[in-house]
Amino acid sequence: MHPADAALQQSFPSVMVPRFGALPPLERPGERLLIAANGVFLEIVRPWLRVVRRLGAFQYRTAIPYGEVEEATEMRCGRIPADLIGEFATMARAAYPKETGGWLVWNAATAAFRLLPVQILEHSGGHLKYERPALSQDDVLVVDCHSHGRHPAFFSSTDDADDRHDVKFAFVMGNCDASTPSMALRLCAKGIFENVEKVPADWYAAAREEVLV
Ligand SMILES: [Zn+2]
Repeated sequence: MHPADAALQQSFPSVMVPRFGALPPLERPGERLLIAANGVFLEIVRPWLRVVRRLGAFQYRTAIPYGEVEEATEMRCGRIPADLIGEFATMARAAYPKETGGWLVWNAATAAFRLLPVQILEHSGGHLKYERPALSQDDVLVVDCHSHGRHPAFFSSTDDADDRHDVKFAFVMGNCDASTPSMALRLCAKGIFENVEKVPADWYAAAREEVLV
């Protein structure tokens, strides 16, 4: 085999899903294709997340002598702390009407979350270009946050292009002049985008502007 193919196949193997036994878990962060009786699935493992999604079903009803796979989402980092969304709201209001960004990272060794501001290269009311923050060894990106200034929260075609290769949540805060900003959240898993229909209520509560009377 061509050595480049051997390296590629080792880094992204295909697995025949056992029908009678259990599928051995992926021990380290990585990706693999699961060939199952009910379709072909992508499994992605990161220190903070395990996600399994069906990429496709079979076109014909032919007998595949393998086991079945269920889609799964396991948040190994636990709940994302709402107070960091509140911290990001403060950043977004300070940058208003320009856009800003931040990374919510999780440290796999300490299990602590924190918010890192991104290094902004260019920002205006309609776009943002930034440098990805340098992370220490056990830090992993969990939520990639950006703000939309005066515009509502949604995922633009630029956001789609930016998010295509990552495994993360993408989060947008819009209407940053409102006492409660608008929010959009989605899971990005190597080109699979899944909108989270209900952004957690405590995120809105944390982002609400404190009005001093
Ligand atoms: Zn955007």
